[in-house]
Amino acid sequence: MAVEKRLKDYGLQSERVMWPDKGPGVFEQELGDLEQRLMLTTVSKAVAWAQSSSVWPDTFGLACCAIEMMSIVSARYDVARFGAEVFRSSPRQADLLIVSGRVAHKMAAPLRQIYDQMLEPKWVIAMGACASSGGMFNNYTVLQGVDKITPVDIHVPGCPPRPEALVEGIVRLQEKIKAGVPPAYEIRGVAS
Ligand code: SF4
Repeated sequence: MAVEKRLKDYGLQSERVMWPDKGPGVFEQELGDLEQRLMLTTVSKAVAWAQSSSVWPDTFGLACCAIEMMSIVSARYDVARFGAEVFRSSPRQADLLIVSGRVAHKMAAPLRQIYDQMLEPKWVIAMGACASSGGMFNNYTVLQGVDKITPVDIHVPGCPPRPEALVEGIVRLQEKIKAGVPPAYEIRGVAS
């Protein structure tokens, strides 16, 4: 759908700027559509597109959900279609942390350390019921939601979520990045 823009949105001066409630004229409408038709864009949009199309996850698995996570790179699910197949062994080369499984209190500090070592901008997906809320492990050993130690951008429900669900979570994250939604740590104001 074409985005409605007026001349003043482009920094141009016209009598329509003096009449802001007036709807866009035909010329302005065509000008607004031009960006879509000729693929003109801004640097920030191009950067957001590039970032969204090259989200590299950290190689990090915690429990049963990790098995489902591993399969997203297989030929059957082929997350390479979305540019997210490059699992990195170093958090310094990754910008997505998929928390796949329950987080024991003992693992909370290492997980947070991995998150801290990732460069910004970075995103977190809480995969499955355990990562999102502790799941069935409502006890003293398991963290009741990874958002207690790291900001979370996307929650993927399920126990375990199927690989398709995780792929959809990645696609939703891409949509957020493309739309210019800041990472969760910025929204929550949490020290990253
Ligand atoms: S959500 Fe289910 S599959 Fe995933 S770690 Fe918890 S118990 Fe295992």
